Amino acid sequence: MSRQVLTPDVCVIGAGAGGLSVASGAAQLGLSVVLYEAGEMGGDCLNTGCVPSKALIAAARTAVTLRTADRFGIAAVAPQVNWDAVRTHIQGVIDTIAPIDSQERFEGLGCTVLREMARFTAPDTVESDSAIVRAKRFVIATGASAAIPPIPGLSDVPYLTNETVFAQPTLPGSLIVLGGGVIGVELGQAFARLGTQVTILEAATLMGPQEPEAVELVRAALANDGVDVREGARAVAVRAAADGSVVVELESGASVTAQRLLVAVGRAVRVAGLGLEAAGIAFNKRGIETRDDLRSTTNRRVWAVGDVAGREQLTHAAGFHAGIFVRGALFRAPASAAVAHMPAVAYCHPEVARIGLTEAEARTRHGDAVTTTHWSMAENDRAQTERDTSGFCKLVLGRGGRILGATVVGEAAGEAIQIVGLAMASRLKVGALTGLISPYPTRSEVVKRAASAYYTPKLFSGRTRQLVALLNRLPV
Ligand code: NAD
Repeated sequence: MSRQVLTPDVCVIGAGAGGLSVASGAAQLGLSVVLYEAGEMGGDCLNTGCVPSKALIAAARTAVTLRTADRFGIAAVAPQVNWDAVRTHIQGVIDTIAPIDSQERFEGLGCTVLREMARFTAPDTVESDSAIVRAKRFVIATGASAAIPPIPGLSDVPYLTNETVFAQPTLPGSLIVLGGGVIGVELGQAFARLGTQVTILEAATLMGPQEPEAVELVRAALANDGVDVREGARAVAVRAAADGSVVVELESGASVTAQRLLVAVGRAVRVAGLGLEAAGIAFNKRGIETRDDLRSTTNRRVWAVGDVAGREQLTHAAGFHAGIFVRGALFRAPASAAVAHMPAVAYCHPEVARIGLTEAEARTRHGDAVTTTHWSMAENDRAQTERDTSGFCKLVLGRGGRILGATVVGEAAGEAIQIVGLAMASRLKVGALTGLISPYPTRSEVVKRAASAYYTPKLFSGRTRQLVALLNRLPV
């Protein structure tokens, strides 16, 4: 069969969050677009990542609400978890969102959608079963998948990843989560809340580079949910037990046994089989080597967006990258993906939202110029009314009140952090946050309160009091 030869303005490889945003942007600007996707439209976020995990977390949270209803004078009940129904709920959410990412929608926008594997055969050519594509520009948006560590025995046992964990036929009675990063903590807590006995094995410390006081609150919450968290626990071997359960052996000599094993030790970028060498596209284990405008350092026709671009591996980063491509490559305007205000949220309970630098990172870069200011959820009236006061807002500030970073912990922290995001994106200083009038009672008020706390020592200092005393002597 002879293959069609296509010469679009833009060829996008990968129909996940990044690739779809590039394709829709380019198509709506009137450019011709070929969009490749060999798997499910929508990529990881929709099918095996953010959407199913947040749907699972919502179900798990409901179980906790039932279990702890007596806080509010309502009889607490032991929730009856019907895993089949939980799976139906998760799939229902995916199905509701899916049309936005569907082949039909993108064809409707004018894209040529090819559901096959694409690979570069030359610097300006991509080929697949049915087509040869010579595009003016190529955008690699192939994402990442669960990294599988070379632990002896792991490949001989059935293990779960984010791709299979939501579709398990039964709710596991016990589960080992290998890796205590964001994925391990979010899913480990959710399964524990649904009734699974969960052990999280983390080689280093839980949740990686976060404010330690945020991690402390998550540790306490996990303990409260009955999760057995082992930090400094490096898995060195895995084997199957006679009854079909999985045994993980640790460096310390201890071992842990559970019915199922979930591997969540990081993400490996998808570059295999893409023919990058044939196109002279430099890459390393973090992804395609790109300049700050996301253009390949070695092939001028090629850009990379999303997880494979070797930067933040977040859905909203992928969407942001698509905007950088449109601005830089299509409008030929200055564009940079190297920004200080990229937020990241761990949707565990309490939710941990972070933007910019942690205090430790800021001190490494800016030394003694760094100050922090803090406000506790215990001093937030909305948190009190909801009987959930675990959390805080911490602002990390540089010279003159420049905002270097922030962490908000607590219910809806991901909403509150956006105020700091706007301030950072607009290069506002901490003073701007004090000008905000937060509706009472909202949790986001912690951001304004933390900012105001920065000025409290100055506001109520001896000098200010003297000034007010002086002004007070003037006639009214
Ligand atoms: P991660 O890199 O965040 O954490 C993996 C953890 O596994 C690390 O803490 C590491 O020390 C540990 N580890 C590695 N080898 C180990 C071993 N042999 N034994 C025990 N522990 C071991 O990876 P992740 O949690 O898989 O997340 C991957 C990416 O996905 C991150 O970049 C994250 O930003 C993104 N993500 C984000 C969200 C979110 O923002 N809500 C949700 C899911 C994923």
